[in-house]
Amino acid sequence: MNKIMKSTFEEIGAKTGLKLDEATGTLIGVHNGYHFWVYFMQGGGYYAEVSVAKDGQPIGEETMKNARKSIAAIKSVTNNGYVVTIHIKGQLKWTVIDNVTEVVRSFSDYLELNEYEDVCQVCGKPSESISSYNTQSGVNFICDDCSVDFTPPTIDEDMAEDKVVERTSLGAVGAILGSLIGVAAIIFLYKLGYVAVAAGLIMGACTIGGYVKFGKRLSTKGIIIGGIIMAVMIYLAVKIYAIMNIVTIANEYYDVGFWEIYRYFWELIVESGSFKDVIKLLGEQYLFSGIGAIIMIVRYVKLNMFQDINYKIQ
Ligand SMILES: [Zn+2]
Repeated sequence: MNKIMKSTFEEIGAKTGLKLDEATGTLIGVHNGYHFWVYFMQGGGYYAEVSVAKDGQPIGEETMKNARKSIAAIKSVTNNGYVVTIHIKGQLKWTVIDNVTEVVRSFSDYLELNEYEDVCQVCGKPSESISSYNTQSGVNFICDDCSVDFTPPTIDEDMAEDKVVERTSLGAVGAILGSLIGVAAIIFLYKLGYVAVAAGLIMGACTIGGYVKFGKRLSTKGIIIGGIIMAVMIYLAVKIYAIMNIVTIANEYYDVGFWEIYRYFWELIVESGSFKDVIKLLGEQYLFSGIGAIIMIVRYVKLNMFQDINYKIQ
């Protein structure tokens, strides 16, 4: 997790007693007798989850509506069974710290006032034995009785099935296919006179995207394979683009083909004094493709944050 989010969560933790869980990159803990899970979701912002019931019934619409009205930091409140999800206002660090702290404090007070109990999110019963579990849907609060049904082999089987081994060779095929889109983008966007940034981003994103699509997973090994394929393909794309230019210019004077130029490429480039231009073009493409690749990698990591494993946290 990034440094800003880490320190944001640590500040909130100091104010509320929740603890930063490094493995999930979220805040987990008990405040005022209620189990809270606080997390950040890309494109959405900050959320808090808590599982409650009153006389065995999940939270009511009216109760959620009133909570939203009375606590200013709440954007919206929804529930799925016993699990109540609170969308919290704010994006900037200090606003987030204030708002999340306010929500955790005020919402737990509000729950207490309305006689809601902290419960296991599966059976809806209050229990001394509620623990936090990391699952595909995020962090769940589950009692010991329910965890018996929760952790058994069925989940392990799912895990085994889910733990698809990274198919590196298929991933490489995907990366090559993806990078071909990148090659086309570089050649055509340059020909049309567009800026280099777009071509690079397309190259980076398509190569890594292609790897993930075919390889099913992305490890460091995958990133290296994708990176090598990308580097070779960028070189090829820039070379093809330069040759096409040379052929066009040369053909005004004499008949010369693509492969002839290809063979004597660097000699011709040096002789014609365009060595610097070609190097600049290559440098640009390596830089922007690198950025495109990093964007895809970050996106992959974020999407897979909660999908890897089911395990008990506390
Ligand atoms: Zn239970």
